Amino acid sequence: MSTSTSSPCPEVLLRTGHRVAALGLGSWNLGQGRHPPHQEIEALRTGQQLGMRLIDTAEMYGNGRSEQLIGQAIDSALAPYLVSKVLPSNASARGIARACEASLQRLGVRTLDLYLLHWRGGSDLAEVVAAFEALRDAGKIRDWGVSNFDVDDMQDLWRIDGGQRCLVNQVLYHAGSRGIEFDLLPWCADHEVTVMAYSPLGSRALLDHPVLHAIGARRGVAATAVALAWAIRSGQVIAIPESGTPAHVRENAAACTLQLDAQDLAALDSAFPPPTRKQPLDLL
Ligand code: NAP
Repeated sequence: MSTSTSSPCPEVLLRTGHRVAALGLGSWNLGQGRHPPHQEIEALRTGQQLGMRLIDTAEMYGNGRSEQLIGQAIDSALAPYLVSKVLPSNASARGIARACEASLQRLGVRTLDLYLLHWRGGSDLAEVVAAFEALRDAGKIRDWGVSNFDVDDMQDLWRIDGGQRCLVNQVLYHAGSRGIEFDLLPWCADHEVTVMAYSPLGSRALLDHPVLHAIGARRGVAATAVALAWAIRSGQVIAIPESGTPAHVRENAAACTLQLDAQDLAALDSAFPPPTRKQPLDLL
């Protein structure tokens, strides 16, 4: 449902020519009672208004409840880019078609902008690619991609007919987990696959880090904005922090306009050293 509207958030150029917000909104734990629903809806609307016009969800999240909540929070005037994911246990030709239809109904939309295979599991990649392409031909999805794929998984995908149409790989990436910088990030850049960083706050692990707080204090923003500005610093990575708290979303959105300087980046490299060798893909 995305169109181009002016936004305060930097954008990432996809291989298709579409531009999408570099900072989006995650939803793994939304719609499941952690916060009152009206508060989570307000948080998602606040994010869209502040330019975080990409919403990430999955059939798995709350067994569909996250998608249902998002259905009530989409600001269609702002046309957020909608991403959902199919479980590997549904990754047969018929299973993918059924799962996509159910996600569309819960979200209350006709088309998903991006549909991802949540993780590889025992999926038959040729069947997955064929099912995604059929959904695209039917107008149910605009593009497709994968999640939690390491370089060897991407190479397997690339050997499959149509596999090179994969647009995005969504993986764990934050300052405390930089392994993908060694090989997966460059591989994706070489093959024009956009990396989407999940858990960019380390699923809370980064919230209390003193270096992030020190930089935030110097720059007049929350530590979370520093972590997020770091994640999207290349201009090629999309980050999808989750929050069901409007005040937190406002803090996070400050990352849209925060340019980390050489001093900030050096302090972060020292606290969180970049990888010097191959590390297995980090997962949650
Ligand atoms: P995250 O975004 O790194 O952290 C979310 C946590 O941080 C929440 O508990 C949130 O609580 C808190 N938070 C957010 N902003 C804050 C702020 N400004 N101040 C204080 N606390 C703040 O973790 P995540 O949920 O693991 O990852 C984000 C998204 O990535 C998920 O929601 C999901 O969409 C996606 N994901 C994908 C996969 C995959 O396998 N593809 C795996 C994991 C996650 P409040 O609600 O109270 O703000």
